[in-house]
Amino acid sequence: MNPPRVRIAPSPTGPLHIGTARTALFNALYARHTGGTFLLRLEDTDVARSTVAFEADILEGLHWLGITWDEGPDAAGGEDNGPYGPYRQMQRLDRYAAAVAGLLERDLAYPCFCSAEELDADRKAQEAAHLPPKYVGRCATLTADERAARATGGRPPAIRFRVPAEVVAFDDAVRGRVEIDTSNLGGDFVIVRGDGTPLYHFTVVVDDAAMEISHVIRGEDHLSNTPKHILLFRALGHPEPVFAHLPLILNPDRTKMSKRKSQTAISDYIAQGFIREALVNYLALLGWSTGSEEEILSFDEIAARFDLDHVQKGGAVFDRERLEWMNGQWIRRLADDDLVTRLLPFLEADHIAGRIDRTPTADEVQVLLPMIRERLPTLGAVGDLIGFLWIDRLVADPAVLVPKRWDPATTLAGLIAARAVIADTGAVSFEADELEPPLRELAEARGWKAGDLFMAIRVAVTGRTATPPLFDTLVALGRERTLARLDAAIATLEGASR
Ligand code: GLU
Repeated sequence: MNPPRVRIAPSPTGPLHIGTARTALFNALYARHTGGTFLLRLEDTDVARSTVAFEADILEGLHWLGITWDEGPDAAGGEDNGPYGPYRQMQRLDRYAAAVAGLLERDLAYPCFCSAEELDADRKAQEAAHLPPKYVGRCATLTADERAARATGGRPPAIRFRVPAEVVAFDDAVRGRVEIDTSNLGGDFVIVRGDGTPLYHFTVVVDDAAMEISHVIRGEDHLSNTPKHILLFRALGHPEPVFAHLPLILNPDRTKMSKRKSQTAISDYIAQGFIREALVNYLALLGWSTGSEEEILSFDEIAARFDLDHVQKGGAVFDRERLEWMNGQWIRRLADDDLVTRLLPFLEADHIAGRIDRTPTADEVQVLLPMIRERLPTLGAVGDLIGFLWIDRLVADPAVLVPKRWDPATTLAGLIAARAVIADTGAVSFEADELEPPLRELAEARGWKAGDLFMAIRVAVTGRTATPPLFDTLVALGRERTLARLDAAIATLEGASR
């Protein structure tokens, strides 16, 4: 047997979608596992909706994920690589025309002169009779003379494929035996529009045949298209590929994943600071499992284990919390300088957005890694954790300064006392383990809960209620700035009480 040839065939009519990324990944994994070939073909025949910007988003998003193809266009608008090109459908129109001519010649397809009004009337009549929509076959058996008569007005005909009456059966590599009666396919279907545009069902089969695709691995939403595709493969005299339909990706409420209920664009996940290792790992497990307990796996580790037998039939729920957990796991595994390199753009974005007053240097971030590495669900969370270090004038909100169980007067007293302790302790050295005991003693002596006192200090020096461990935070800030921020918070509370 020849090594498999698989493909991803995105339409550049929208940004890279989670579902497309998952399908691309499964194809890439299958090719890597089997020593096969993975190609990318752009299905850009929907000229009105296809754009180079969407093409760029898709190709760059896949590259960003580390998904590479052996054949296809490398970059948006760029050259094709590979012996089966061109890999853009708009550059293959002559092939579709030749294939249509062959089907017409063998009467496996025919010209259809029905007007939009006729088809609309058919649809309405079927609706009224509670029948599913179906082409009535008005043009299916016209003689040459009748065709000439219907061709009046010079409107070019559409081309319809003749759907034979039979049950199409195939063994889906994921779903097992599938049988679909062609009477449910809506009648003879259009493969080329009157304006000459070839349609998806046709182009996908012409190209899968021409590109010698051995396995069509795609989303379950295409399952109902497959009988049409199988009929077309047969009509074109080409052996059918193996089909493998991947389970749908679902919203948490088990409806089909949609923009309305979930984030679907890969670029949004990138912008929030999900890292490629985690996204690849998570997407691979969205419908496939190792069959073992292993969870944290790299692309290569997954490729070594990947097979279609372990693809599940049932829908795969997209669980953002789990993705964040996995992202955190992968962030922990990054080398220091790699993590710093990936964090800096997020701090730079915080700077540009005015959330911090300058972008820190790589060295400044590097020394803070022990404090934040385990606390980052996403790279984008870095500003919340340590951004306070690069704010020149921190103004803590008095409403946030006062801990839940405290009133303003206690908070003021607490901060004044804490400031004295910190000033005293820090005069010799400023270390986390030297700051903690005297502050605990202070709380005990005054009958305060240490947690309340620490919360007041935390908000005073960072402006936030959630930060890395308090004493590390104080050390990172340094003695002078800690004291200055405590003074500012004390002044704020005094001002508020006046
Ligand atoms: N262009 C189609 C899509 O984006 C390809 C479907 C297929 O893999 O056959 O859905």
